[in-house]
Amino acid sequence: MSAIIKGETGDWEIVIGMEVHAQIIANSKLFSGAATEFGAAPNSQVSLVDAAMPGMLPVLNKHCVEQAVRTGLGLNAAINLHSVFERKNYFYPDLPQGYQISQFLHPIVGKGIIEIDLPNGTTKEIGITRLHLEQDAGKSIHDQHPSKSFVDLNRSGCALMEIVSEPDLRGPEEAAAYLTKLRMILRYLETCDGNLEEGSMRADVNVSVRKPGGELGTRCEIKNVNSIKAVQMAIEYESVRQVQIIEGGGKIKQETRLWDNAKGETRSMRSKEEAHDYRYFPDPDLLPLVIEQSFVEKIKGTLPELPDQKKHRFMQKYGLGAYDSSVLIMERARAEYYETAANGNDPKMTANWVINELLGGLNKDGKTLAESPVSAKQLGDLVALISDNTISGKIAKDVFAEMMHSGKDPSDIVEEKGLKQVTDTGTIEKIVDEVIAENPDNVAAYRGGKDKLFGFFVGQVMKKSGGKANPDIVNDLLKAKLNQ
Ligand code: ADP
Ligand code: MG
Repeated sequence: MSAIIKGETGDWEIVIGMEVHAQIIANSKLFSGAATEFGAAPNSQVSLVDAAMPGMLPVLNKHCVEQAVRTGLGLNAAINLHSVFERKNYFYPDLPQGYQISQFLHPIVGKGIIEIDLPNGTTKEIGITRLHLEQDAGKSIHDQHPSKSFVDLNRSGCALMEIVSEPDLRGPEEAAAYLTKLRMILRYLETCDGNLEEGSMRADVNVSVRKPGGELGTRCEIKNVNSIKAVQMAIEYESVRQVQIIEGGGKIKQETRLWDNAKGETRSMRSKEEAHDYRYFPDPDLLPLVIEQSFVEKIKGTLPELPDQKKHRFMQKYGLGAYDSSVLIMERARAEYYETAANGNDPKMTANWVINELLGGLNKDGKTLAESPVSAKQLGDLVALISDNTISGKIAKDVFAEMMHSGKDPSDIVEEKGLKQVTDTGTIEKIVDEVIAENPDNVAAYRGGKDKLFGFFVGQVMKKSGGKANPDIVNDLLKAKLNQ
């Protein structure tokens, strides 16, 4: 899945720009007091404003403005103290106003930058063109009745942020990395829950192809892609389609295309010639939005540590590699879990336990971190028991399995099951002597030069001790006795 397509006439580069619609986390709508809760009974969260009754006036929700500014700051973007709401006019059965209130010439957030992490470990900066506030439309429902369609206006008027990127992305992997990072930032900021499948984050993908480094080609915009996997597949399909047209002597028509997930293809929805003329004009019901720099500064003061900052701090403070750090910071709760567990413990060992055992185990059990039977403190206690030689790493895995099952404290499990490591040299020496006495052939072979047999003796001693003998002492004693 590279950014280059090998055509008959040589290499082609895939160019992508994204328009992401992110639903703002807010209790009420952008211009009304109606509730926004997901999954409510149809048309139960609709005010007269959302239903576009004549004479109703929109009132701007200050919280949504804060959320947009917060997001702009998280995208390292310029905040525009003066912005304007405009009417974007079009007819749709689920849009009772006959227009959407959006921002056009003067968005609330201007140019910004986010850093994406690529699979080969490098990073790349992607330009953000703008972020603007707008209302969502309602939803038409076509599958409830053989001859009728229904309209649910619960979503009508919910606040969206449209986040537009520069055409800086090359190929499906970068597009996936961009969406992943953007979603992570939105979740850290708690301005959008970033759920592509439920539609609280929706991506329109603009794709074109060009000779590497050449002028930008004509783009097609792909809609209806609702997972990161689908975005990647749509880009792969669409870019190959465009190369084939151009190499066959044709031209790309600028158009909107629909991704068909079942068929794995894009198909034409409407061409630019049929495109709407939205007749944007400033909404006469709303004054220009003017915010103070002090309002912006106040929000800046409440920003959390963002994913990249956290990643770099983890690398420095805990001496972790870039990979471990990026896994641990993927969610805020995960990073917090790690920091609690690592408190006073070996940071690298703790990272391994969180990433491999805990996350692996939860994944296997189909549980989220919030549902983990093992608390961060308990995992930290387990790591401490290994570090101070109370139990071996191998026994620790059994203890952990029991913790995942029962939620008990590790020290209680070690106590109950008598799993404490044996560090008493006399006890271990007795076992070593037994093993040597029981395996004269192997002893002779080892002394005759078959060094590899050492592992066999270690294994036998560990087995006889029920896995409890301290491995360092076993090694030392075996070496001393076998080399006599
Ligand atoms: P529109 O409103 O018609 O969708 P925009 O100017 O808002 O147009 O641009 C939409 C998106 O298209 C942006 O994300 C931009 O980066 C992307 N884009 C622009 N030109 C190209 C191109 N040649 N190839 C790929 N993407 C492009
Ligand atoms: Mg567009």
